[in-house]
Amino acid sequence: MKSYTFAKRPIVVLGPMDSESAWLIDQLDHHTEQTFGAYTFHEGTIDNCPVVICRCYIGVVNSAVAAALAIQYYDPLCVIIQGTSGAHDPALHQGDIVLGENVVHLGRFFTPHCDKGDGSDPFTWDPQGSEIVAVDPDEFTAVLHSDMRIIDAAAAVPYPDGRVIRGTIGAADIWNKELDMIDHLHKTLGSDCEEMEGFGVLQACAQLGVPCADIRVISNSEWHKEEEFNEKYGESCQMFVLEVIRRLIAEKTLL
Ligand code: SAH
Repeated sequence: MKSYTFAKRPIVVLGPMDSESAWLIDQLDHHTEQTFGAYTFHEGTIDNCPVVICRCYIGVVNSAVAAALAIQYYDPLCVIIQGTSGAHDPALHQGDIVLGENVVHLGRFFTPHCDKGDGSDPFTWDPQGSEIVAVDPDEFTAVLHSDMRIIDAAAAVPYPDGRVIRGTIGAADIWNKELDMIDHLHKTLGSDCEEMEGFGVLQACAQLGVPCADIRVISNSEWHKEEEFNEKYGESCQMFVLEVIRRLIAEKTLL
């Protein structure tokens, strides 16, 4: 694949759904597009600096592929994965923002043997790390970390619509609605919220040596019946992330 040359290295932002990427694409100046297979990368500028935005589609594999393509083609300063999530911490509410200092996988387990007819007890499953040789060539890695410069920049962004916490984001190709399981994951893996992409994107970025951050808004909480999934929070997250991008650019944080 040939590489694209901006005058400066861009910031790449991924959002899984239209409702998590279209608003940000609309904010680009000098908008052009580049498509690879199912993925369209929207190139443009924000505050005169190059930014590339891609709808990466739902799931850890879809989004990791988008991250790898973007890294190979654009040689970005960083990749930001952002969007909606469901609360694991009962204290979090719709509109709150979680900055993923830590990102854990919610779908990697080793199960104990059970005989036919014994049934299944997910509470006995043993969480596993992932083989991420760029992080640790000898051990499997259970927790990935967002780039602290991006997290610090995000923590300084004013946000009137909720709390902004530094925490642990969990990801897997599952949408958990069982409160006993949500509580179990919260207590054993420390997840403050769940989504379906973060670990895949951080893993791809770690393996390819690019700074990455996962930033999520709470769009639903099983702990609070009235807080059902509402895609309008996808826009809240994009508005917040736009201010993060502006701060990274203004303060030349990643240069
Ligand atoms: N089409 C679905 C919602 C989107 S699918 C519906 O209408 O119900 C899931 C997407 O939302 C993923 O990109 C994931 O990152 C995010 N998401 C939001 N809340 C989630 C939750 N509680 N569990 C898992 N993923 C969640």
